[in-house]
Amino acid sequence: MHQVPTVQLTDRTRFGTLSSLCLFGVQEAFMIIRLDKLRDGSHHQKWSGTLTSVDLVYPEVVTDVEVVADIHRLSDLITVRGLITGSLARPCDRCLEPAEVKLETPLHVVIRVRSVAMTTEEGDDGEFIVTVADEDSEVDLTDLIRDRLVVDFPLVVHCDEACKGLCPQCGANLNIAPCTCAVTVDPRWEALKSIRNENSE
Ligand SMILES: [Zn+2]
Ligand SMILES: [Zn+2]
Repeated sequence: MHQVPTVQLTDRTRFGTLSSLCLFGVQEAFMIIRLDKLRDGSHHQKWSGTLTSVDLVYPEVVTDVEVVADIHRLSDLITVRGLITGSLARPCDRCLEPAEVKLETPLHVVIRVRSVAMTTEEGDDGEFIVTVADEDSEVDLTDLIRDRLVVDFPLVVHCDEACKGLCPQCGANLNIAPCTCAVTVDPRWEALKSIRNENSE
């Protein structure tokens, strides 16, 4: 089991949207596209950075995230199609042991360069449309990375599909060893048992 590092949240940390399980905070902007250096045509680029993830039951964790994307520019229209990947540990919903969650989320952004202030809107199927002012030399997409990860974060986390979970009576981790709790039958099913016995007679 690898050690999960904890961090102190700093003033630079900006928190994202609350999902059912996980919050992501941006530690430091890392996905920046230099518009002044981006010529017309196709480009392949890679970014890597860290996000903090935190929820009510788990300590803050620094998560390495990588983004690989193809960028196409035609004058003032830029499209970014890429994949965000990473992984982090969360408690398994059945046994509460740390489970690895693989983050893999597509990123699709359309950037329009206009003579207006910067805006971001979310289009259909998770596409972001970012409008940047024509005097801006760069655009920071780090917050969009965080938003994509929050939206696609799995609602249920399992350490293994076959995880047996905890015994509801004694709390033992049934993946380690079976417990000695008797399998009790709900008394409301007793009537069914007698019907079955009658049929078999
Ligand atoms: Zn489990
Ligand atoms: Zn038990």
